[in-house]
Order: sequence, then structure tokens, then C-alpha cells
Amino acid sequence: MRSDDHDRLYLSPPHLGRHELNYLHKAIEDNWVAPVGPNLDGFERDLCQYTGAAHAVALSSGTAAIHLALLLLGVGPGDEVIVPSFTFVATANPVRYVGAEPVFVDSEATTWNLCPARLREALEDRRRLGRPVKAIIVVHLYGMPARLTELLALAAEYGVPVLEDAAEALGAQYQGQPLGSFGALSVLSFNGNKIITTSGGGALLTNNAEWARRARFLATQARDEAPHYQHSVQGYNYRLSNLLAGIGRGQMELIEDRVKRRREIYAQYAEQLRPLAAVEVGPAEPAGLRANRWLTTILLRPEHTDCTPEDLRQHLETHNIEARPLWKPLHLQPLFAASPAYGGSVCADLFARGLCLPSGSAMTSADVRRVVQALTEAL
Ligand SMILES: *Cc1c(COP(=O)(O)O)cnc(C)c1O
Repeated sequence: MRSDDHDRLYLSPPHLGRHELNYLHKAIEDNWVAPVGPNLDGFERDLCQYTGAAHAVALSSGTAAIHLALLLLGVGPGDEVIVPSFTFVATANPVRYVGAEPVFVDSEATTWNLCPARLREALEDRRRLGRPVKAIIVVHLYGMPARLTELLALAAEYGVPVLEDAAEALGAQYQGQPLGSFGALSVLSFNGNKIITTSGGGALLTNNAEWARRARFLATQARDEAPHYQHSVQGYNYRLSNLLAGIGRGQMELIEDRVKRRREIYAQYAEQLRPLAAVEVGPAEPAGLRANRWLTTILLRPEHTDCTPEDLRQHLETHNIEARPLWKPLHLQPLFAASPAYGGSVCADLFARGLCLPSGSAMTSADVRRVVQALTEAL
């Protein structure tokens, strides 16, 4: 953050604690600036402990983690992968990296995530067309758990592995179990705007020891065991550095505080925006699910206002408050115009009516009131 921006309210800026510097200091003192080192091991241990996954591989980004996960699942040229239409483009891009095509599926209205009924329709139809699906990517958007019981049952019924994109969902739980532990392979992101950050980074989580070993191998240029540089398969330079992993260790000490604060911010918005008939804060948390409330999102009710999300965003901008539209559905993106899609009206409606509000865990209650006041003024 620049110093002249001190009163700008950002959507989700990094929130550093006090111990990141200790880990960095130790790494530099010990000359562990090389990519792999003790912070990397420590950070991976922290991630396993927190999510319950048996193995964590820290990588340079969440996108890299999705790419490696698809390779481990054997997805390749000509294959199809089911992707929710309502997500960030980074969920779908790696499908193209491996030469496969995404097949988009709409959201359901309660969690805004993958709709089980639409998923069944897509799996059935691709089978009928002789295009069996190679993997299903489940995303927990804005930190709200997807309907995992139904989705995992469908995946099992059709014999398709699930890749869990939990990039926005660290700290959320489904029936008491941490997200990031449900997929055959699961992915986290530590990008600067996520609930914790290493400035840039990601991780691949799995209970499969062979996949974890293979992911480390592919992420470090796929060197065969030999004293010289010997290569039999194509590798990548995807490992997180030991320095950035030090920031991650400091951040992981605070993850529970960060989730608690984001949930408080959501609750404050929900409470203070209740008098505005034109605004709906949500999605509400279904029983048994804990959202991490990475971002607080609102929907406008057109029957109560002529104001559009873009009008609101521009009004907030005049108060030096950053807000963003919800993710634009991928089936509506020019990049994926030719990809098959099942449904799409649910997420298109969310996009048309929705806005993300500033939700950083360093926000104060006064900051929340400032946003609410600006929204009230506009409406
Ligand atoms: C951020 C994000 C990613 C990608 O993570 P990076 O670390 O930025 O590469 C993937 N999927 C979703 C849903 C995300 O929000």
C-alpha cells in the first residue's frame, strides 16, 4: 500500500502479522535463500496440520497447483474437464495448458457453487456423446463450501476424480472438516488478496504419497536421479521459495484469527445493511457449513432499486472505497465462447446483480460503517 493511499479501503489487502519477519530473518541469517529449505518444510507441515491432508506441496501459485493436479490426474489433449462457470479464470486456464477443454456447469442458488442437478446433466450428456469427463473441478467461491456430499456422490457414481479448488476457502469447513481435504487433489492460493498470503504462492494437498512425490518432481524441472542433469519427462519451475514460505509460516500462525475477523466483518455488514430492502447480503451459511467469508458479497434486488452494481461501485469509488463485480461467468467470456456449457442463467444473474465489498481482516468496525454509509447514500 502506498502511503498517500492511507484512507483508501481496498477489497482484500494483505494483512501481515508480527512473526513473518522472524522467519525471513532466520532464513537470511542461515543463508537459506535457495528455493528449498526449512521454511518450506515447516510451511508444508503447517498446511497439513491445519487441513488434515497427509501431504502438502508448496508452489509458486494456485494456478501452478491446478496445472500439476491435472497432470497427475492424467488429463491430456482431447480430454474434457468439468469446471464451474462461476469462478475466476485461473480455475479453467490450466485445463487448456494440458490441451484439454473445459465443460462449464452452472451454480445453484444457495451456495453459488456447482449445481449437483446440472452436474448430473453434464456427466450424462458427455457420456451419451462418447466424451467421458476426465475430472471435475469443485470450487468453493468466496470461501463458501460447495455441496460436497451430493457432488462427491455424483463423482463416485460416474467414476470421475474431484480436484478441489479451495484457493479462496482456506479456513472454511464442511460438516466440521476443513476444506482442502475433500478432493483427490486439492489446491490453495496465497496470492496477495487471499485470506492469507505469501505475496504470491499456492499449494497442492493430497493423501496420496506418490502424487505428492511426483508433484515435487515435476515442480523442480523433473530431474531424474543422476549426478548430471538428466531428464525423461517435461518439468516446470513451480516450487515456492524458502523465503516466501517463511511469510507463509507467520501467516499460518494467525489463520484462525483471520477467519474469525472476516466472519465478523460479514456479520457486521449483514446487520447494518438489513434496513436496506434493495440489498441482500449473502449467500447465507447453510447448517453444518462454515464459510471463511473471504469476501462479503451483496446482491441488488431490482424490484427495489434502479441502481446497478456498477452505479454502486462508481459511487463507492468517489469515497475512495474499492468494490468489484462478482466473477464474470466463464461461459460468457470470449476466451471460452466455443466451450460447452450446461445451464448458466443462475450465475449470469448473480453476476448481473452482485458486488464484492471491502473485506480485509485488518478492517475496523468504523471502516465497515463507512462502506455501509456510502451504500446507503447511493441507494
Ligand atoms: C486466486 C484463485 C486461483 C489462482 O490462484 P493464484 O495463486 O492467484 O494462481 C484459482 N482459483 C480461484 C477460485 C482463485 O480465486
